[in-house]
Amino acid sequence: MMTNRRDFLKSASLLTLGGLFAGKATSVYASNGSVSPVANASKTIGLQIYSLSKELYEDVPGGLKKVKAMGYTNLELAGYKEGKIGGVDMMEFKKMAEDAGLKITSSHVNPPTRDYTKESLPQIQEYWKRTADDHAKLGVKYLIQPGQPTTRSVEETKFVCEVFNEAGKIVKAAGIPFGYHNHEMEFAKVTPGGTESKFGRRVREGELIYELFLKNTDPSLVFFEMDVYWAVMGQQDPIQWLKNYKDRIKVLHIKDRAVLGDSGMMNFEKIFAQAAANGIKDYFVELERMPDGRTQFEGVKGCADYLLKAPFVK
Ligand code: MG
Repeated sequence: MMTNRRDFLKSASLLTLGGLFAGKATSVYASNGSVSPVANASKTIGLQIYSLSKELYEDVPGGLKKVKAMGYTNLELAGYKEGKIGGVDMMEFKKMAEDAGLKITSSHVNPPTRDYTKESLPQIQEYWKRTADDHAKLGVKYLIQPGQPTTRSVEETKFVCEVFNEAGKIVKAAGIPFGYHNHEMEFAKVTPGGTESKFGRRVREGELIYELFLKNTDPSLVFFEMDVYWAVMGQQDPIQWLKNYKDRIKVLHIKDRAVLGDSGMMNFEKIFAQAAANGIKDYFVELERMPDGRTQFEGVKGCADYLLKAPFVK
């Protein structure tokens, strides 16, 4: 999900990145020769429901049935607020998903503030208690924070890690693993005593926020859901992170600029190969707003078609 689009748009240098990666991306099917047009019904494919935008809420039961018919098997929720998902009671949403033949595996939820301080900590802890209890009733496998807290220095970043550990304890007590999902700005750098995070290849000083998150959170309390597209937009190679942090990155967001595979900038064949080598079982397709007039449902179907046909998706 894109929560800091304004920051992103300011980083105009990113717009050249597609070119950098396009050179590496060969046809995803080239090494395998032929592509079977027959959808493999046995694949486990998750969908982050943010991808459907408000189109989903025009008809939730009908929309979820369409999602199932496309080949998706699992859902990751978004839009949780006070026991509701996008305004629909959580347990009713679960019933609608089950009726459609979909399993709710995960949910994205954000604490009420991005400013993590000693003063805001009790409010954040209270939020996690309530949210974890609600999701325990729902029966999810993961509870994941997708929004980045404010981090301007190494010290602030380490404090955020303490708060993540606290969240992890609370969520774990409800029987659910707590995870963190990145955008691109976690690949900015911070310095000790710094006053802002700095992004870009030419920033030599400092440590990557994402690496600090990985190193300063407790592996028994916090796992990572890596959004591979935002990692690339953060000028990173997601495969290298998957190799470096095999035991920490447990879930993926499979995402491209729009419909999977269309941009040519994402090497999904290698990403899926490394994910399989790491033993990653769960991933969720995510789609931002369709840029070309097609509906979100059409875009989400395009993503499913890509994965069902791809020989490297097992
Ligand atoms: Mg994502």
